[in-house]
Amino acid sequence: MIDLHTHTHFSDGSLSPEQLIQRAVANRLTHLAITDHDCTGALENLVDIPEAAALQIIPGVEISTLWQQREIHIVGLFIDKREKTLQDLTRNQQQLRMARIEEFDQRLDKIGIPGLLAYIKTLPCQAAGRNHVADFLIENGKAVDKQQAFKKFLGNTGRVKTAAHWCEIGTAVMAIRSAGGIAVLAHPDRYKYTRNKLNLLLDEFKECGGEGLEVSYSNLSHDQLLRLATVCEQQELWASVGSDFHTPAAGWMDIGRIRQLPQGCRERAIWHHPRWSATSVGAGTAQELN
Ligand code: AMP
Ligand code: MN
Ligand code: MN
Ligand code: MN
Repeated sequence: MIDLHTHTHFSDGSLSPEQLIQRAVANRLTHLAITDHDCTGALENLVDIPEAAALQIIPGVEISTLWQQREIHIVGLFIDKREKTLQDLTRNQQQLRMARIEEFDQRLDKIGIPGLLAYIKTLPCQAAGRNHVADFLIENGKAVDKQQAFKKFLGNTGRVKTAAHWCEIGTAVMAIRSAGGIAVLAHPDRYKYTRNKLNLLLDEFKECGGEGLEVSYSNLSHDQLLRLATVCEQQELWASVGSDFHTPAAGWMDIGRIRQLPQGCRERAIWHHPRWSATSVGAGTAQELN
């Protein structure tokens, strides 16, 4: 029971770190990576959470990057959250996120939907994103759900769409590695690439020092899982598993609810990576989390 991709309310998840860990324990997880978008605030003070002693917590992050004008997410596992290169990068990405929110705020204001900035400031998040804007639009009756909020307002054809200026893949991978982490390419099928294009992306990712590929995650069909397992083997990457859990409200996904790695891929499972045992920070060594 291992889940290496989850979010808290420090980015666009709905649970606090404490609630996330309690849910992971209730779901009988043995290992949980907390991987918020472009921030590590959820990794502070984990020792104060009693349930954190019941499982291994792997400090992580999910960094937004741009590759050929598309948004590609890189998960970092086993990171040292205090390392300066990574801190500088996440701080910069958070500033880009706030600048983007201000742009959304102005554009929404112009079409008669004021108040986004004030709404965002009430949230506990360090890394505001389009999901928060979607929540704001839904709360104000401007969209019925997230899909509609993206279609009408925030997506590629939306009324207030704005470009993102995330860092390059190499910058994210380098920061993760500087912080002692393993860089993993997140949810590869979501980019809707052909096999050739995905291989091009992975070639570049590996050249930059990327080491892992998410092979199993929420909402993945068995065929897709087998396809990704083959890509992972051919590219000689470590295979990662992560639900990308955000909220209990999305009933179709939960912490740890992911398919097992297919047989051929199991020897490449990321828990065989040499860094895994060396740095997993868990119950007995919880002070390492701070
Ligand atoms: P951001 O970090 O602000 O770039 O927001 C990216 C997040 O927005 C993704 O991780 C998805 O959760 C969500 N998202 C992006 N596009 C869509 C879409 N078309 N429909 C629903 N959610 C989306
Ligand atoms: Mn998210
Ligand atoms: Mn992602
Ligand atoms: Mn994610």
